[in-house]
Amino acid sequence: MRIQLVRHATLLIDYANMRLLVDPMLSDAGAMAAIQNSPQPRPNPLVALPMPVEQVLDGVHAVVVTHTHRDHWDDAAIQLVPKDLPLFCQPEDLAKMESTHFVNAAAVHDARNWSKICITRTGGHHGTGDIGKAMAPVSGYVVQNEGEPTLYIAGDTIWCREVSDAIEQFHPDVIVLNAGGARFLQGDPITMMPSDVIHVCRAAPKAKIMAVHMEAINHCLVTRDELAEEVEVAGVSVMVPDDGEVMDF
Ligand SMILES: [Zn+2]
Repeated sequence: MRIQLVRHATLLIDYANMRLLVDPMLSDAGAMAAIQNSPQPRPNPLVALPMPVEQVLDGVHAVVVTHTHRDHWDDAAIQLVPKDLPLFCQPEDLAKMESTHFVNAAAVHDARNWSKICITRTGGHHGTGDIGKAMAPVSGYVVQNEGEPTLYIAGDTIWCREVSDAIEQFHPDVIVLNAGGARFLQGDPITMMPSDVIHVCRAAPKAKIMAVHMEAINHCLVTRDELAEEVEVAGVSVMVPDDGEVMDF
């Protein structure tokens, strides 16, 4: 398995001889409005893609979308991702995919086999209380193949029962966490804070843990450096890739 962080939550994953594109946000820097009601309003994305968009899409065999907030599935992705690629999404987003002419979109209810890959959907909480409810639904995915490490992409969720259940059930070898402590002016963070990431590390001490979803969208306030510092103090190990960085497993 090889994972390249493109930017934010957008990943290219080479897995069982297939290339998966996860949560494509393909807009140019500054092409989207700031997330409203958040502390540092600036146009998004805050940074450019680390490579030409054609290169992001080159050789992709299937697309996996955790949810359709625009930092995971933006207008540029709707325009540029080839409409005939297999596309896996949560059931609640299928109509949206079909209405934008993704003719091979398929909902992952519980699990789905495609090529030699099993994709199982997991749950999560995109925040607490009323904000968490308003941001729902969100999903994560566990990706499995007998010759590859088991990969758990948690999606936009805080540390919660669903995340700990997924770790217990699937014993992932590699876990990708959406950090950044995204938040609005009111309420609790809606993606993982360093303390959430540390919870995951302690719940999955044998897994390699990678944190993404930082420094690209204006309401994500926790930087890579801040996260790296806190996990070091906690004595756990987390990979914090730069945009464009490739990791082999
Ligand atoms: Zn997000």
